[in-house]
Amino acid sequence: MFWLDAWKGDGILKDRYPQLYDLDTDKRCTVMQKINGNSILWRSCPLARGLESDLGSLYNDISHTRLTSGVDQLHCHLMADGTYTVECLRNMIDHNPLPLSCPLVRWCKEAPIKVICFIWRAAQGHIPSAMSLAHRGVSLSETMCGSCVGVDESVYHMLVSCHFAQHIRNIIFKWCGVGPTQINTVH
Ligand SMILES: [Zn+2]
Repeated sequence: MFWLDAWKGDGILKDRYPQLYDLDTDKRCTVMQKINGNSILWRSCPLARGLESDLGSLYNDISHTRLTSGVDQLHCHLMADGTYTVECLRNMIDHNPLPLSCPLVRWCKEAPIKVICFIWRAAQGHIPSAMSLAHRGVSLSETMCGSCVGVDESVYHMLVSCHFAQHIRNIIFKWCGVGPTQINTVH
């Protein structure tokens, strides 16, 4: 798509020209429709909004584009030939440092993949607690923990501070021969 796919330069045009994107009446048009079709139909004139510079840059970006016949293709930048494999993505993750804001990623072969995925999602607060479901717009009768009184069911509460969760955790620790262990964070 013209605005929403990365087909010209770095990133997508929607992010490079957000105000022009807002003014376009056909936000899901294809590149072919924009380049070979009629000019962009604006909701209101970009020039009247003081967007001459953005408009000039956009036209400059796309003015030298020449489309050829044929079907659309996806090109993966990770491989020289443009193909995508899970292996190349895995290698990229393994060999490139993540931003400091990201949680540490460890590939643990001993733990089942579903356990690793659960922990990774929990560390980011993305498991379906009542609070996170409500945050995503899911209609719930209440967001309180079913085992505690007056406490919202957040990811932290579900896995760390809930008395019921602590009780289950202590049983598992005992079962595994691990002494009493204080856990203060999902991470
Ligand atoms: Zn609770």
